[in-house]
Amino acid sequence: MTVEEEYASSLLRELVALPSVNPGFSQAPAGTTGEERVGSFLLRWAHDNGIFARRYDAAPGRPCVLLAAGPENAPSLLVSAHMDTVWTSMAAPFTLREEGGFFHGLGAVDDKGPLVAALCALRRLSRKDISLRFLVLASCDEEFGLLGIRHMIPRQIRPDGVIIAEPTNLNIVTAHKGSSCVAIRTTGQRVHSSLVPAGANAIYQAAELVCALKAYAMALLRGPRHPLLGTNTMNVGVIQGGDQPNVVPDACTIMLDFRSLPGETPASIRAHVVKALAGCAANYTIIEELHDAAALDTSPAVPMVACLQSILTEAGLDAAPHGVPYATESFRPAQVGIPTIVFGPGDIATAHALDEKIGKDQLLQAADLLVRLVTSRHWQKSDFAATPP
Ligand SMILES: [Zn+2]
Repeated sequence: MTVEEEYASSLLRELVALPSVNPGFSQAPAGTTGEERVGSFLLRWAHDNGIFARRYDAAPGRPCVLLAAGPENAPSLLVSAHMDTVWTSMAAPFTLREEGGFFHGLGAVDDKGPLVAALCALRRLSRKDISLRFLVLASCDEEFGLLGIRHMIPRQIRPDGVIIAEPTNLNIVTAHKGSSCVAIRTTGQRVHSSLVPAGANAIYQAAELVCALKAYAMALLRGPRHPLLGTNTMNVGVIQGGDQPNVVPDACTIMLDFRSLPGETPASIRAHVVKALAGCAANYTIIEELHDAAALDTSPAVPMVACLQSILTEAGLDAAPHGVPYATESFRPAQVGIPTIVFGPGDIATAHALDEKIGKDQLLQAADLLVRLVTSRHWQKSDFAATPP
């Protein structure tokens, strides 16, 4: 084992041993939730390594830690990796196990492995003369309410470029869909079921809407395609109404999930729903719209992206821009106009799974690639703009 290898594996071992399950998951055993333990560890780690670090509380007991190297007034690149994990009932979740070239443990791939890659890169860069302010954000609550990234960007920090370190198998992800949830309620007239003609059945009205939504969802699949993401999609995931068979129900709620392409807005998503229901006679209201995350679509023409692409090509890796179906913290910096990509070691397929694991080689390679990216050029603000000024 090389010194770097040994260092990365011991750091990952320490982080996995500190439970940081997202408290949004009610099955998590008592005493395992929250980012407090990992946050305190990182502040000590930074202190021991002579690295700048600062704690920001996104909510009481929900810290983010920002770490930095390089000149303060230089253009800044932020690598964000989250401290919280998703609870699964994997065996010995907090003990890192090494087997067949993989590290196994809760959070190994999502997202403590990518966090270790960023920290190893930061530690090496802190000893070099670099032209970039290299920031690492250990964020909180990525797996539930995204409290951390929402708290930090743009209120606390506004970096020039952002890499969200999530497992992409070292592919550059420049695009993902947005996600929204819309709730619709139908209303009727409640009467005893023996008096059917006097009532108005809210479930029958909802059924009409569900059929129209299904037809629209099918039509979306034949709609405009994004080269990396395909089409918009829509799914009716919840229908709730009525309380007993002998009552004509007066209310029914439908909840649908809309996965949107870049360019869609809360208004255009609402317009899709309104259009889907246009021919329906049912009495309905849109009662709630939750636009959780906007889509990501970063231009590969941004020099930061092009630079990482050439570094991947040099390393013999796939440098093509990729799209993924899931949303990440990236929506937040992208929303405020910061060029953002998702890039990190490990396979998302093992995240949230019973055997969470990350390839040791990829983890080490990710740290190397980040160091190479930062040291590859004399960085200017214009390296983070789609079109040079
Ligand atoms: Zn993650």
